[in-house]
Amino acid sequence: MSSFSETLNRPARGDVALWSQSLIPTTREAPSDAEMPSHVFLARAGYIRRVGAGVYDYLPLGWRVLRRIMTIIREEHNAAGCCEMLMPVLAPMELFAETGRDEAYGDDLFRLEDRHDRAFALGPTHEEVITELMRGSVTSYKQLPVTLYQIQLKFRDEPRPRAGLLRGREFIMKDAYSFHLTIEGEGGLNETYDTLYGVYSRIFERCGLDFTAVEAVAGPIGGSASHEFMVNCESGEDTILVCPKTGYAANVEKCETGARAWSFDGAAEGDVEKVHTPNMPGIEVVAEAMGVGAMDMLKTVVFENASDTGPKWVLATVRGDHDVNEDKVKSAAGVPVRLADEKAARAAGFVIGYVSPNCVNTVGGTLLIVDPDATAGGAWVTGADEKDHHVRRFNWARELGGTLKDNAKVRVADIRNAHAGDPSPKADGVALEERRGIEVGHIFKLGTKYSDAMGLSVLDKDQKRQSVIMGCYGIGVSRTMAACVEMSHDDNGIVWPAHLAPFHVLITVLKPDDGRMQVARDLADELAGKGVDVLIDDRNERPGPKFKDADLIGIPVRVTVSDRLEGQVEFKTRTAQGKGEVIELSDAVQTCLKALG
Ligand code: ATP
Ligand code: MG
Repeated sequence: MSSFSETLNRPARGDVALWSQSLIPTTREAPSDAEMPSHVFLARAGYIRRVGAGVYDYLPLGWRVLRRIMTIIREEHNAAGCCEMLMPVLAPMELFAETGRDEAYGDDLFRLEDRHDRAFALGPTHEEVITELMRGSVTSYKQLPVTLYQIQLKFRDEPRPRAGLLRGREFIMKDAYSFHLTIEGEGGLNETYDTLYGVYSRIFERCGLDFTAVEAVAGPIGGSASHEFMVNCESGEDTILVCPKTGYAANVEKCETGARAWSFDGAAEGDVEKVHTPNMPGIEVVAEAMGVGAMDMLKTVVFENASDTGPKWVLATVRGDHDVNEDKVKSAAGVPVRLADEKAARAAGFVIGYVSPNCVNTVGGTLLIVDPDATAGGAWVTGADEKDHHVRRFNWARELGGTLKDNAKVRVADIRNAHAGDPSPKADGVALEERRGIEVGHIFKLGTKYSDAMGLSVLDKDQKRQSVIMGCYGIGVSRTMAACVEMSHDDNGIVWPAHLAPFHVLITVLKPDDGRMQVARDLADELAGKGVDVLIDDRNERPGPKFKDADLIGIPVRVTVSDRLEGQVEFKTRTAQGKGEVIELSDAVQTCLKALG
């Protein structure tokens, strides 16, 4: 039996594994639906295997890399005072009903019933579960602040699982939740948020990723502030806008624009003309039929006020080629808006699909908000407020006249998603630029959304009950592994940085049965003694396929033990071109260590 001090004094030994005893099913063929390099190479190199749409096995090599990423995540979180735990995947639906997310999550939530017909969900994220835990565990402000985290499987029935691990339906996430009495000051939410921002930056730096932290809207999780950590990658599915002068970066939903000029004074170009436009779904089709571009059209979206005060309806008009941004509409309107219920809107007089700005005058209790880009120009194509009809030559000044001057009825504000080329909100005369990215992390200030909904409160110093203030912080662990491959591969396969590689050194034995295995084993043993993880390719295969596989799986250092070399081995790094260099066997360990850095 080993004593505690023995455990303490034992140096960390590397692992030695034999290819023949592992499962590394490399193939030439990429999965038929694979386009992204990470999907192609992780599958071809035997790191992952598809079980079903968006569901994957993590094979031995893949799991070793994931564990390295998890180690980095754990080290950084633990150093920042966060505490690891594990919550269940299976959660009673009542918990989600307490916050309304049983409905808000819609079809993305995996739902199931047990044998007693009780409803459950597979956790898409764990705010409810942890809020329930805290509700039953803390009573006093003295137990705060606290930040708990877990590394756990998550389930989301994504409409389009794609690109292997980049968008799965079952995936690994690190999720952390912080609990506070205050927002400001020592122990407050802002302090922990800033700490976790630093933790995230260090984690992605240690993963060797080039990333940008961008301002984001809080989305379905709700809350007041949030940042996304985006890996800068041309093939990423998210669009980021950056101000090249100030470094301001935001996603398209969140990004503000600098002031844009506007005017309702464009001269009319002839009378309004009504046109029959039946069976034309979508603005592009209508534009084509009318012989104009989408940018010559007005798009008007009907919102309803979710509160009892203020206008009942809010119309948002943007240029046909732009997208209305609900959050911006909300702040421009100054009331909480949501997309109007179609039935109610029709009953009020809106001909959904054909709504024009004229409705501000024809439907009572309506506020019209117009995006600056939808003002200029004197002759727009817009809906005719009549089914299957549009009009040409809509002119703001002529059609709305004095109403345009009534601030209670018409406002001009930035209410669309930003684009490359828009003026930067942070620097005059500078245009926003577009970059693509992969979202690997997301941090939110939740405030009291969950604690209010679920009754999580503590007694403060004065014995007064206060809602607990929360933050939440997620990292897509499996997506991060895929992002690392996106950023580090060549035509032949993956190129791992040493500290993420499943093994540091691959020893390829060309004729394993001619006694060379002992050379490999001795070398591996010595390397393992220095903390290096070694994989020995002991398969009875021809050299060609073995070298191809070596490139494919991407281990940073390769040592080849050949029957043609006596007392020598061939040494090659994954990134070196051409053939390896012959070195003395006695120098092999030092050469490997030097190459690994
Ligand atoms: P996305 O916008 O990509 O759908 P999200 O904003 O819904 O992601 P969050 O709720 O912020 O995701 O989850 C935290 C992190 O989990 C994300 O930053 C991302 O890295 C990861 N993640 C989310 N959905 C998936 C998925 N389907 N597959 C793999 N990782 C995911
Ligand atoms: Mg997110």
